[in-house]
Amino acid sequence: MLGRKGIVLLGAPGVGKGTQAKMLAEKFALSHISTGDILRDAVRAGTELGKNVRQVMEAGELVSDELVSEVVRERVLRDDRNRGFIFDGYPRTVAQAEYLEKIMSDTPIHAINLHVDEEQLLKRLTGRRSCSGCGRIYNVYFSPPEKEGICAVCGSELVQRKDDREEVVQERLRVYRQQTEPVIAFYKARSNYSAVDGNRDVKAVFGDLCKIVSSSSAESPLR
Ligand code: AMP
Repeated sequence: MLGRKGIVLLGAPGVGKGTQAKMLAEKFALSHISTGDILRDAVRAGTELGKNVRQVMEAGELVSDELVSEVVRERVLRDDRNRGFIFDGYPRTVAQAEYLEKIMSDTPIHAINLHVDEEQLLKRLTGRRSCSGCGRIYNVYFSPPEKEGICAVCGSELVQRKDDREEVVQERLRVYRQQTEPVIAFYKARSNYSAVDGNRDVKAVFGDLCKIVSSSSAESPLR
């Protein structure tokens, strides 16, 4: 469809793709497709897909291209908010990038790579905790709750994602370097690629991303 946006947010685990993708989706009325969120929901709900992917996710490995691409295809077909899509955590392999090009053949894709220094990444991931009640996110290094391990909003216990444990984080970063970094070259070769420094606060990064998304097709933001 003419004027429809297809934005791919690239970057290592912990660069802030999820936070930024949610904000961009709202501002530009795009459908936000986070494969990590979809797969985690499936695990929580105990569906067939969830049972198939749970162990792989907990080990920090990649789910197979076939399973993930099927999940994405379904979402793209199902979603009729046709201003476009923002993909977060997909594609993570060159095979996935090629598949996305096929199913989005009518929509030009612009890839944006968020880069954050490794030391910062480790703290963002291993320090992340979420509330088991309301889902609010904390970080023990950057935004700790007043009372250790307890949500300041609803008083529930804070929990750590299994794949945010130090040894799994190291594995996720290894997998990223080996399998996902080549996706950057894939998009660079197509000249539809931008890079943004993610080592800054959320607002500054968001400002840069908005400029890129705005100019990625003829459409303007909603506000
Ligand atoms: P994320 O929340 O994006 O870090 O994803 C959490 C986990 O879900 C990853 O470590 C993978 O096990 C799995 N996953 C998410 N997206 C993909 C993808 N595009 N390809 C393969 N596995 C994925």
